[in-house]
Formats: sequence, C-alpha cells, structure tokens
Amino acid sequence: MKAYLVGGAVRDELLKLPVKDRDWVVTGATPGEMLQQGYKKVGADFPVFLHPESREEYALARTERKNGQGYHGFTVYSAPDVTLEDDLKRRDLTINAMAKATDGTLVDPFNGQQDLDARLLRHVSDAFAEDPLRILRTARFAARLQPMGFKVADQTMTLMKNMVAAGEVEHLVPERVWQEVQRALHENEPGTFFKVLQDCGALNALIPELEPAESLADGLNALRCSHQRDLPTEARLAALLSPLASLEPGTAEHRARSLKAPNECIAMARLVSDAVSALTAAKPLEADTLLKLLNDSDAWRKPDRFQVLLGTLACVLPSPSLANLDQLRHAYEQSASVNPQSLMAEGYAGKELGEAIQRERKHRIQLAIDRAKGNA
Ligand code: ATP
Ligand code: MG
Repeated sequence: MKAYLVGGAVRDELLKLPVKDRDWVVTGATPGEMLQQGYKKVGADFPVFLHPESREEYALARTERKNGQGYHGFTVYSAPDVTLEDDLKRRDLTINAMAKATDGTLVDPFNGQQDLDARLLRHVSDAFAEDPLRILRTARFAARLQPMGFKVADQTMTLMKNMVAAGEVEHLVPERVWQEVQRALHENEPGTFFKVLQDCGALNALIPELEPAESLADGLNALRCSHQRDLPTEARLAALLSPLASLEPGTAEHRARSLKAPNECIAMARLVSDAVSALTAAKPLEADTLLKLLNDSDAWRKPDRFQVLLGTLACVLPSPSLANLDQLRHAYEQSASVNPQSLMAEGYAGKELGEAIQRERKHRIQLAIDRAKGNA
C-alpha cells in the first residue's frame, strides 16, 4: 500500500500558499487492511478513513462514473487495482489533480504544474461535465486565485457554457449552491465568482435579477466594499443583492430564500433592501420612516446586527443618500437611550408602556431631524 498527498494541499504548497488541510489517497489497499492498521472509517458512501494519530483524511483510490442526473447519480468503484492516475482523473481541475509521493515526487499526469505556471483553471477531462457543482467550484477558485493572475481556460469556459445550455444548473441541489456561494463571498475577490458565473450563463439561472450589466456592476461594487470592510456573510449577500431594491418589494429577500441562505442572511437582505428604498426616496426623511426602520431591524434588542446593517448601507447607498444614513445613525443613538424604567416610574405599564416608549423615541428622532435641518 502507498499513500500520496493530493488535491488542494499539493496545489497550495506549489503556490506557496498556506496549506489548510491535507488529504491523502491510498493505493493497493482494501478497507479491511486500513482498519487493521488502526485507521477509522468516516465515509458512509466512500472508502474514506482517518489516520489514527494525525486525523488526516486517507481515501482509497476510487473512480466515479455518472449513471443518472444530478449530484447523486454517481457509481463509486474502489479496489486495490484502482491506480493513482485513475483517481486523479475524476477530479475537477488540473491544478487540483496532482499528487505527491512520500519521497517528494510529484505525480502530475494532467499537467497541473504547467497550468499553475500559466495561471489557468482547466478541466481534467470531459467528465467535468458530469457534475454541475464543478462550475461553481471553478468560479470559486477563480475568485480565490484571481489576485495571483489565474483565469478560467477558454476550453473550460466553453465546456461550462455548454453545461449551462444543457440545463445542468437546474440539477444543482440548492443547499450545495449556497455552500459554494457562502464560501465564494469570503474568497479574495468575491466578485470574480459572480462574473465567471455570468460569463458561462449560470448567473441567469441562480440570480437572474443581476443579469442586467448595470445591476451586476452595482451589486459587485457593494460586495467589494463589504469585503474590504470585512463584514460578515449576511452583509456581503445583502450588498450583492442590493440592486434588487429597485424591483418589486421583497425581491431580495425572496432571492436569498431561494438560494437557501440561512435566516440571518434572508433577514439582512430584507432590511438592506427596505432601508435602501426608504433612504433613497426623494422626499425629506420623516421621524416615522426612521422609527420604522429601527423597529423593523429590532435595533434595540439586536444592536450588533444594527451596526452590520449600517455598515452594509454605507457600501450600498448612492452618495447623495449618505446624509440620510447619518440621520438613521443619529436616530438610533438618540432613541436607544429611552429608558423604560423611568417611564414605568411615571406609572406606565403594559400596552401603554410600549406606546409611551415609541412616542418618546419618535420625539427624540424628531428633535434630531430638526437639529440636522437647523445645521443644514
Ligand atoms: P480548499 O482549499 O477549498 O479545501 P481543495 O482543492 O482542497 O480546496 P476540497 O473541496 O477540499 O478542495 O476537495 C479536495 C479535492 O477533491 C480537490 O482538490 C479536487 O481534486 C477534488 N474534488 C472535490 N470536489 C470535487 C468535485 N465536485 N468534482 C471533482 N473533484 C472534486
Ligand atoms: Mg481541501
């Protein structure tokens, strides 16, 4: 039996990037022999094991063949006669299909090293077309490695276009799509992920509202800003989807939901979209509008989330509306200190107490607006 370091670890080592986790492929062994040597089985569908000490993943060399549509239609074959090259051949990109023997020899049957040097993301074989998730993975590697000069190889882009045209994107499991989108939002150049998806036609299936060039450009600008500010996932998604605020109310929220984003992301997409509509309206801001934004975002009980909302809006709003964002911030600062205790001491309770708190908040917001007017 022989073990080889494979995939991302080999790629990242050659690129002199930090290696996160190391995966191994084992040839010439059976599951029984692995267990005998103390490895622990982890894969339910695949023969994957954990090393007894390092806890790194060791997978028996395997082949995969497509036998149906969608992500589950694969037949896995693993036996001691499956070679390392067989295993590397089922991988997505040539730069991910290299292996390193324990003596340091590079095994590179698909010229991954050459593509690394040429900064090309290239598919290993036409079997790439069997799994549409590879489109998203390729876009994500483009987003990660773009700053180093990587781009998708022309032939691979053509193949991805053909896959999209054949309706392959429809077969993606939404949960897997979200997993890739979520990761992409935190890559070095998140916008590149969505540009690659647009180039191959997949964006139209996943976020059709961003298909118009101007919408995509606005979304990507906002996304870049949220990335530079190191804002969390929900802010990045809401920034990307912010151009949807000009469409039917609820569109951004609906899109976040159909991408299977978590609740926090759906909520932020809605809050940002509503705030954009309210803060970019032509008429002067009213206390009621600001109070409603504060109430809807539950700023009182979720101050951290409210700060994320403010940060996202700073990335999203057109510059003429940034004064309105300051107003929202002031409105919060003035009204957050309304003290229920002192109102209770005045004898308010129950429903009346709630109303008194709202009245007092609105009053303070109005004062802040008047002061801002006076200063203007
Ligand atoms: P990362 O740094 O994001 O972990 P990685 O290359 O290690 O990058 P993984 O998702 O950990 O990516 O997968 C490990 C390896 O398995 C990849 O390098 C690739 O060779 C292969 N692989 C993973 N998913 C697929 C897929 N859907 N199709 C083909 N090969 C895949
Ligand atoms: Mg990995």
